[in-house]
Amino acid sequence: MKKGIHPNYKQTMVTCACGETFMTGSTCENIRVEICSKCHPFYTGQRKYVDSEGRVQKFAKKYGIQV
Ligand SMILES: [Zn+2]
Repeated sequence: MKKGIHPNYKQTMVTCACGETFMTGSTCENIRVEICSKCHPFYTGQRKYVDSEGRVQKFAKKYGIQV
């Protein structure tokens, strides 16, 4: 297995703006999001976090989270 190709993939904590936290695998540490699977329904129709929403949906799709 060659080194230097794959980033260091590890467990990290994701913190949402609503206070929810959960663990996931990522190359980043201490990820912060504005919307998670728990608080997302509150933002439906408001589209307040357009940029973040795209990232969250991508994230949720990757990990199979219902949003
Ligand atoms: Zn949240």
